[in-house]
Amino acid sequence: MKPFLSLIVTYLIVFNSFAQILKGPIPEKLVVLTFDDAPASQYDIVAPLLQEYGFGATFFVCEFPPNYQDSSLYMNWRQIRVLNDMGFEVANHTRSHAKITRLSQTEFNAELEYIERKCDSLGIPTPRNFAYPGYGLNGDILEYLKEKNYQMARAGGSRAYDPLSDHPYLIPSWATNENNKAEIMKALKEARDGKIVVLTLHGVPDIEHPWVNTPPKLFKAYLQYLAEHKYTVISMRELEKYIDFEEALRLEQDLSKPLKN
Ligand SMILES: [Zn+2]
Repeated sequence: MKPFLSLIVTYLIVFNSFAQILKGPIPEKLVVLTFDDAPASQYDIVAPLLQEYGFGATFFVCEFPPNYQDSSLYMNWRQIRVLNDMGFEVANHTRSHAKITRLSQTEFNAELEYIERKCDSLGIPTPRNFAYPGYGLNGDILEYLKEKNYQMARAGGSRAYDPLSDHPYLIPSWATNENNKAEIMKALKEARDGKIVVLTLHGVPDIEHPWVNTPPKLFKAYLQYLAEHKYTVISMRELEKYIDFEEALRLEQDLSKPLKN
């Protein structure tokens, strides 16, 4: 084929696949907030603040061993239901924050299905999105998620999410802690040119896991910055407005990119 003609063909193929994956253009300054592990502070501090700002968010819940029954440390299911009633997304982080790469498919499914059944029994929509506990993942897990019809799965990697090249089961994110404000502020500036910034937060504050602690004052500073600079702040499931996940699931699963925080 002549070089000029092959350029046109390539352009048409690429343009066509863009058009299929995206339902419309990704707005500038689009940020997805995700909260892991169900610490009590997400109910006491995070949810009311998000509501005040009118921001969406996804809560990836689990029953974190060994202390999840201690309500001073972790949310109970009644509180998780309130998050759903407030309009937030409740999504799956396995029952026990499992080291999933060591599990058989049957064991992995049991971890997923425990959370699905809990949600079902409480009138919370069945989770369709997942976050890898400890960012542990492999090709088998991706296959299991597909068989369970999951739509998106959040990993780490400290880079922006490009819906045209990142597979929906390998959605990258940055994780906050009490010492990385400069890194997170820089990350927020990457929400442009079709890319989306996904943040992973844990407790605000996080008593059990101080290495992922975000102090309330710092959290408020992030929310204030996002509001003042007119960011659109949404949950993972709200990405469906912009992305056709049926199409996006056909993207290559590139496990060579950074996927841990
Ligand atoms: Zn976790």
